[in-house]
Amino acid sequence: MATTVSRVGCRITVTVRIEFRNNTGRLNAAQFQQLVNGWEQSIEALWNGSTGSQRYRCCTVTFNVVTKIGQGTNGYHQVNVVAGPQTSVAGLGPGSTNGRWDDQDTGAVAAHETGHLLCLPDEYDYNGPGGAYRNLNPQPAGQPQSIMAQTWGNAAALQEHIDAVMECTDATCPWYCCIFRWIDWLVLRRVLRIFRPLFDRLSLPRRLSNRLTSEREGTIADRRDRPSMKHHSIDSLLDEVRSGDPDRLTAAYDELLDRGDDAVPSLREALDDESPLVRWAAAGALGGVGSDEVTQSLQERLDDPNASVRVVAAQSLARLGDSAGVPALIRALEQDDVMIGHPPELTSDYAVQVLRSVSGERFGFDSSAPAYERARAVERWEEWWDEQGEEFTPR
Ligand SMILES: [Zn+2]
Repeated sequence: MATTVSRVGCRITVTVRIEFRNNTGRLNAAQFQQLVNGWEQSIEALWNGSTGSQRYRCCTVTFNVVTKIGQGTNGYHQVNVVAGPQTSVAGLGPGSTNGRWDDQDTGAVAAHETGHLLCLPDEYDYNGPGGAYRNLNPQPAGQPQSIMAQTWGNAAALQEHIDAVMECTDATCPWYCCIFRWIDWLVLRRVLRIFRPLFDRLSLPRRLSNRLTSEREGTIADRRDRPSMKHHSIDSLLDEVRSGDPDRLTAAYDELLDRGDDAVPSLREALDDESPLVRWAAAGALGGVGSDEVTQSLQERLDDPNASVRVVAAQSLARLGDSAGVPALIRALEQDDVMIGHPPELTSDYAVQVLRSVSGERFGFDSSAPAYERARAVERWEEWWDEQGEEFTPR
């Protein structure tokens, strides 16, 4: 297993081992190492919470992320890192090995994907009015929101997540930990050290605790593999997208990206679909198959009423060497919708990732910064665009 849990007395350590493969085509070894180090720190910071550790019943829980660069090492989750931004995916559960992240993924996105490795499902969909994003596990206003529902603002690992991770990985917290928590810990530390072996023998038999968690593991096993959509028609793939379920939507989207030229007529038609989810998928998939007609159809989507569609159309045009979408990307920095895809990000965060990718520039932009700072960042991008002129070609 790539994710394992160990316990010493009342301290539980969750170790997540992830191996990253550099398939970005643009980061050298040192840059890639830096990216991976950043992810490692962000994942640990988010999962250990603001106090540096979590609690499960009466035990302390610490998350430890071990990263490695390479491919195919046993006992590691495997993540293929590609050039982004795009949808990222991770398998579900401690043994999963089918991950794909992108080099623009933020620390919060990496932490969300790690949540999947820790057995947690998504807590959002796009079944709000008109295909709008819905947080399916909303927390009271002012409280941290679930990292499995959003990757912006104040997102955190909730207690229910820690409990679910412990159940999924079969971790146990022995009964005596509660007694020691209740009675003055300092006085009893010495006693604990002497009697710990005896207490361990008295804790709940493993078989019983397995029985308590087996139902949950059944659901996890069912979801571990993504549905294969190799034999779906383009129309039925678009129906999967229309479902608004993040798993089905991203699996269908990936399949659409693989279909190539044959899919073009249906995808061009789908650009006018009434569902913004379908228009988003079509605009994204067309970025992989270039032609003059496609470019023209995508340019028409730069005025789409839905921000995700505008941003992804601009991105696809950039992939086809057309810079017509750059102004739409800069405008997208000014407002916050939720980008369609996985995991959910803000359209402004996604747009700045596309801008960085096409320009090679890194003007600071922070979607959570105060309005005046944000406006300054937008101005820097506008100035940069004014300087570029007609002959600019996206990288
Ligand atoms: Zn997710």
